[in-house]
Amino acid sequence: MAGFKAHITGSTLVGVAYGYWGTVHQGMPIESGMLAAGLCAISGMLPDLDSDSGVPLRETSNAASALVPMLMIDRFRALQMTAEEMALAAMLIYLFMRFVLVGIFKKYTVHRGMWHSLPAAASAGLLAYLVIPCPSEAIRVYKSLAVALGFMTHLVMDEIWSVQVRLGRTRLKRSFGTALKFSSNNAWANLSTYAKLFLLAYLAWNDHGFLQKHAPHLHEPHLHESQVPHLAQPAEQWLDKLRAPLSRR
Ligand SMILES: [Zn+2]
Repeated sequence: MAGFKAHITGSTLVGVAYGYWGTVHQGMPIESGMLAAGLCAISGMLPDLDSDSGVPLRETSNAASALVPMLMIDRFRALQMTAEEMALAAMLIYLFMRFVLVGIFKKYTVHRGMWHSLPAAASAGLLAYLVIPCPSEAIRVYKSLAVALGFMTHLVMDEIWSVQVRLGRTRLKRSFGTALKFSSNNAWANLSTYAKLFLLAYLAWNDHGFLQKHAPHLHEPHLHESQVPHLAQPAEQWLDKLRAPLSRR
């Protein structure tokens, strides 16, 4: 199994490449590229939230608890909160994640269970999408994909590390195939994983429309798309390119 340092190194390298690709080739603003790189790096720790002790759990839960409130600033803004209310909300979210959510995770996950799986990676990306509202849909998708990418990097590394090459002969460790998987042999865990995935997909799909329909005044983002200075056209074209295969059907 790849250690904590190896994971962080791997996901940071992938994150930097992703940030570079987005900024240079896809017209993303530079700060979005840098944020995406950071998100990808940190997300490389996320799968090990299921390890019950030690450095991975501590570091990951600290990083996630601190980062999520920051990412939610646009969401707070959309709710027209004052600076003080934002600080209070950020503090409450931090405490909730740090002391409640992590506890729940410890109790209900098994190491290398369904949290180390492809549907979990997709769920992490969707969760990020819900947490980060942004005036630009392209940047929002780009950042959410960074989270899924970091998560996937971790899974791929776990699999690579489970192949042992010794004296020219390859041997598969018992852990082979327990990271990059669609399902486990625990039916209940599978059901709950896919139920969460579909729920998140449903919420993400409706997120835009929901606020617009039920609270149009809340939906009005702080900055309109045309007011964001660097919001280059290429970023939106990138998203259209991404959507093209979906809409063709
Ligand atoms: Zn792992």
